[in-house]
Amino acid sequence: MADAADRLSPARATRMRVLLFGPPGSGKGTQAAMLAQRLSVPAISTGEMFRQAVAGGSELGRKVEKILAAGELVDDATTAEVVRARLAQADARGGFVLDGYPRTLTQAATLEEILRTHGAALDAAVFLEVPERELVRRMSGRREQGGRADDRPEVVSERLRVYQEKTAPLVEHYRELGLLRRVDGNRPAAAVGEAILTTLGDRGDDLASRRVV
Ligand code: ADP
Repeated sequence: MADAADRLSPARATRMRVLLFGPPGSGKGTQAAMLAQRLSVPAISTGEMFRQAVAGGSELGRKVEKILAAGELVDDATTAEVVRARLAQADARGGFVLDGYPRTLTQAATLEEILRTHGAALDAAVFLEVPERELVRRMSGRREQGGRADDRPEVVSERLRVYQEKTAPLVEHYRELGLLRRVDGNRPAAAVGEAILTTLGDRGDDLASRRVV
């Protein structure tokens, strides 16, 4: 069946370095998993890595547990260490979908530096746009289904505040770099997924010419 994914040639698709960002509840995790599968690259979620560290009781987990529970951001240095190690692994060297990283302008600069040391560069920064009313509705729904501890209403409002203050400036940052792809995330997940593939495929030629390796 022909669809948006077919517009990405296999060689190009499997070497894409893409990040997904947007407010909490915008569907980054769902979309990152779907997109990574389509592109045959790993989905790398800092939130998931931190939650696993907490569940496993590691030193990292003990360090970040209270921060996650409060809806604050883990400090940039700790986050950089985790991402640097993950991006150095063999499976990520040929492409990746990043979910939830970067989340601050400092983290964006760190990511650019990490990729430069690999002789690589980002291909696209996909911004999932969802109205705040819908974000709150989704997170409270997730909470009722026995979901995440940080989906409690008071933590949700703090996560939204932190997003506005620290992460929203990334929109302008990636716009200036010519990497920003805005996608309407206020639709069923499958439709959002197709829109992401379309926006990546439509810019395929630009992506190829910008690539460093
Ligand atoms: P959401 O975007 O819905 O908040 P995530 O799974 O991306 O969900 O993140 C969950 C939590 O993990 C965040 O609230 C934060 O505490 C921590 N976290 C995830 N990614 C980062 C990051 N890049 N920098 C700092 N903290 C992070």
